[in-house]
Amino acid sequence: MIVLGLDGATFSLIRPWADSGALPNFARLLEEGVSGELESTVPEITVPAWPAFATGRSPETFDMYGFTHFNRETRELDLSHDEYVPGKMWDAVSDQGGRVVVFNIPGSYPWQEVDGTIVAAAPEYKEEYSHPPERWDELVDLVDGYKLRNDAVPGSDEYVEQSMALVDKRFTGFEHFIEAEEPDLAVGLIRATDRVAHHYWNETADPSNPLFRVYERVDERLGEFLDAHEDEDVVVMSDHGFESVSGYFASNHVLERAGLLAMTEDGDAGKALLGRLRDQASATLGRVGLLTLARKIVPESALTDIPSGGALGLENALSLGRIDWDGTRAIADVGQKTTTVYALSDDPDEVDAVCEEARTALASAADEEGLDVRFVRTERGGPHTPDLAMIIETPHVHASSRFDVDAPTFEAETSGHAREGIFVGVGPSFREGTVEGASITDIAPTVLHVMGYRIPGSTTGRVLPVLSENADAAARDPEYYDFVGENAATGGGLDSDGEGEEEIKDRLRELGYLE
Ligand SMILES: [Zn+2]
Repeated sequence: MIVLGLDGATFSLIRPWADSGALPNFARLLEEGVSGELESTVPEITVPAWPAFATGRSPETFDMYGFTHFNRETRELDLSHDEYVPGKMWDAVSDQGGRVVVFNIPGSYPWQEVDGTIVAAAPEYKEEYSHPPERWDELVDLVDGYKLRNDAVPGSDEYVEQSMALVDKRFTGFEHFIEAEEPDLAVGLIRATDRVAHHYWNETADPSNPLFRVYERVDERLGEFLDAHEDEDVVVMSDHGFESVSGYFASNHVLERAGLLAMTEDGDAGKALLGRLRDQASATLGRVGLLTLARKIVPESALTDIPSGGALGLENALSLGRIDWDGTRAIADVGQKTTTVYALSDDPDEVDAVCEEARTALASAADEEGLDVRFVRTERGGPHTPDLAMIIETPHVHASSRFDVDAPTFEAETSGHAREGIFVGVGPSFREGTVEGASITDIAPTVLHVMGYRIPGSTTGRVLPVLSENADAAARDPEYYDFVGENAATGGGLDSDGEGEEEIKDRLRELGYLE
């Protein structure tokens, strides 16, 4: 079984380009396999979407809500990227005696010991890392130099060229480890479909469009890949979709207007002074150095999709002490199309009351702006899990954490994630046709069931109705077992005293990544 992830890949580009003949291998994949939209996590961000994919569990079960996420207890924004999430599908395969190859999946580091090879992806502050360690040099020699991320300047020709080269190197590396290891499960990821979409969103099938060139290159390599694995089961999927963004919904502004949140005029004098010192330090260091460091931490896809500059969003408001906590009962963090609302109470009745008021305020503001939204009430899985999430269903509108606006929405011209990723299954176990209502947490149970492995009982996903009637898996019921995974076999990368983390966040803040 092979799972090929294409970060941020969307049928809104693939279908028209495949229909026009520009992506013949995607066309063949859709024709021969079973396909459908794959609903992303709440929120629809690379992390937690990939850990949810890997575990078959929704984010509240591992308390992860973005590259940064609000902590209800400390009332700060924490970085999440090196938090260990146990119980991934490759851990379950290895636990049941199978061999695995895991190639560049975000959230795959830190890892638990497995039988096979892991070349990890995020966190991106590391230059190299693999399990076992010698795999890294093997990869570098094979493809004549390897990078975990595109480090060229977005917008430059070099950035596009490096993206294309990385597509090739990733396919070549993934294929190499599949041949070398003969794994029972291989999971690999192409990242350029997300990053180039962030920087060069463009729906025209024209060679001058860098995003089209990336999809064309992926299509070519996909064709070779499918030929090489003709008799195997292959799943091609993405963690979320993509769309152009023409406006933002300012969730904290709406909560403030409804009296659920209060601001102070000047903020905390000490924190404001720290902010000014930071500004001076950044002017001295220069933005290039900061950009380089910040890129090592967070994929630049995350750096570009949020309005930047001097905006007063959640991170700036927190770091400048601008929130009057005595007058605040709820606060909103955001990720792409999702607003996550945190009630600042541990009393269940008060939490219910705050959620109801927040829902009413957000719903009426959204209605006022003509937006279609839906709400999900979440169970607290830890300090980062919100109590309520609002998902904007209207295309091309995303959520912002900004306070400093005078209306619930403001205009923008950018691109970002859509909730609908892609799912295609092809090979002897899969039927043809379409599947409706698939979710990213359904991949792990489906893959394990098709492989004849037991599924961790903690999964919140289900086995998708995508099996061929001739498949072995169609003749048996999914089998569940008690598996939670082991502790991380290797430590995280950031300083455990949190100093490194503060330094990184300072740089992200200077960049405008954090509002
Ligand atoms: Zn992604």
